[in-house]
Amino acid sequence: MINIEEHILDSSLYKYDLTKDKIFTASMFGNDDIQNFLIIKHKKDIVSNRSSKTDQSTLGSVFHRGLEVIFSGIENVEVEKKVRLINVYNDWDVTATIDYFGIDNDKKIIYLSDHKLTKKFSGIMVKKDYEASGYFWQLQVQKFILSNIEEYKGYSFDLALNMFYKDANSALDEPVQERIALDVLDNEFIYDKLVDKLSLLDLYLEQDKEPPECEQKWFRKINRTSVPTKCETYCSVNYLCRYYNKKSMVQSIKDF
Ligand code: SF4
Repeated sequence: MINIEEHILDSSLYKYDLTKDKIFTASMFGNDDIQNFLIIKHKKDIVSNRSSKTDQSTLGSVFHRGLEVIFSGIENVEVEKKVRLINVYNDWDVTATIDYFGIDNDKKIIYLSDHKLTKKFSGIMVKKDYEASGYFWQLQVQKFILSNIEEYKGYSFDLALNMFYKDANSALDEPVQERIALDVLDNEFIYDKLVDKLSLLDLYLEQDKEPPECEQKWFRKINRTSVPTKCETYCSVNYLCRYYNKKSMVQSIKDF
């Protein structure tokens, strides 16, 4: 009999590309510099030190694996499409895994959407200021990569976030799913943003100097203790981060 949890973990675990050190993924765009610094510096260890238990990120991965099955076989649609641009800036390759890629060759439009299994609060925040969200930039970087690939030159883009709310209240008739259409930025602007991120990361890596801790840690109250949810639940490099010490945090909760 297979171990179900182990099998889900093996099938859904995010695998870093180890073919080169300087690989920046579209999803890293929304990270703080410290997270990207730790990922680039330790990505070989992150692969071998994966959590042996399912966690919040496992849920998202399983959701995406399900969508792969749902959309497979549909004409002009690809899911989890991997794309890459070589040497975008100072030997950095930029890669992306696109959740949903649809192409209309007659109208020359490419439809990109990212699927998020999330809470309503996340949708509210994205709609309030979607340009401040990593989700927004992830799609812009995907669009940047595709529009620099020969076979997609001349295509226009339609970008959207598809939010699936796991806490929608059916008694209040709240929608479980919502499509948020996004503005499409010029490639020059996206490139400048990428260069800002990559040049700063280069500086920290060359000097082997850790960037400052993350600005937002998404604190929530457990009993009367503040717990940094981002560090605790959503950060794959928390065990490498000197700003976060789970043991002392848990201790402070127990002591309370
Ligand atoms: S543990 Fe917290 S402060 Fe450290 S990199 Fe992760 S999210 Fe940022």
